[in-house]
Amino acid sequence: MKNIQDNFISGIGNTPLIKLRAASEITGCNIYGKAEFMNPGGSVKDRAALALIKDAETKKLISKGGTIVEGTAGNTGIGLCLLGNSLGYKTIIVMNDNQTQEKKDLLRNIGADLRLVPAKPYKDDANFVKVAAKLADELRPSNNNGVVWANQFDNVANAKGHYEGTGQEIWDQTEGKVDGFVCSSGTGGTISGVSNALKEKNKDIKIFLSDPKGSALYNYIKNGELKSEGGSITEGIGSSRVTKNFENAKIDDAYSIDDHEALPILYDLIENEGLSLGTSCGINIAGAIRMGKELGPGKTIVTILCDKSDKYATKMFNKSFLEEKGLPFPNWID
Ligand code: PMP
Repeated sequence: MKNIQDNFISGIGNTPLIKLRAASEITGCNIYGKAEFMNPGGSVKDRAALALIKDAETKKLISKGGTIVEGTAGNTGIGLCLLGNSLGYKTIIVMNDNQTQEKKDLLRNIGADLRLVPAKPYKDDANFVKVAAKLADELRPSNNNGVVWANQFDNVANAKGHYEGTGQEIWDQTEGKVDGFVCSSGTGGTISGVSNALKEKNKDIKIFLSDPKGSALYNYIKNGELKSEGGSITEGIGSSRVTKNFENAKIDDAYSIDDHEALPILYDLIENEGLSLGTSCGINIAGAIRMGKELGPGKTIVTILCDKSDKYATKMFNKSFLEEKGLPFPNWID
């Protein structure tokens, strides 16, 4: 027998780098996307889910029969639930009700106990992250096997997972010839872990943040002010605050990317390169193209292909939704 795994968990990570043809041609650079959509749960967040569970297990906060509670835009919840099912943990997922129907359906179909809440700012007690933390506190006394709030935004085990995995893999895959890395931030786990891993190897590697409209992180990097304007249909990225994970990121500069710039890149990738990617990838690749233009031809730039388009079909491929928002759409959508 060959290539047999005990379970799917060892299938997390070690994703390929895929050359993004148009992005590379436009810039004269080699632009690669790290194919995180190939993780078993379908997104980059499988890595965070695994790192957070390992952290809880190492700290002896949970054992078989325990419960993991988390506030998430969806992908971390999917990863936590699949891992939880495999390891004997129950998962309770708190998510904003404005996230796509696809993510809600998927979470319920894999057995997550999904609690939808109205979207509220972080400072509000009804914010999804605060609701998850409170729920875990309330449930803890009644479960001897432990109730853990995974706390992906401020538990730096998340970034550590990317430091040990994603960042080292990018260094190895490019044989250290990477000149720039650019991606968006939700929790900040990816950009923090990867930036620290790469800068430790070579401090001259440029790390840029690609931030959607409506997020305050672009202004924070540019001038230290947490200010935002506009909005985006992307999910899982952008922030109004500096999380503990983001705080540790080593970022040189930032781009603010509009959906008008990001979406056509995604539709072109489907039509011409056979890659059907989720909305945050549009922000990431737009950032990589801008970085390529800024650093100049011949450079090697890596970004993250966080997940696929299937979880966003009701937005990305919905003509009336896109028309209503005044966003571009390809002629094959009707
Ligand atoms: N893209 C998608 C689709 C996501 O779900 C997330 C995480 N919420 C990110 C990007 C951002 O990753 P991180 O949390 O590591 O900053």
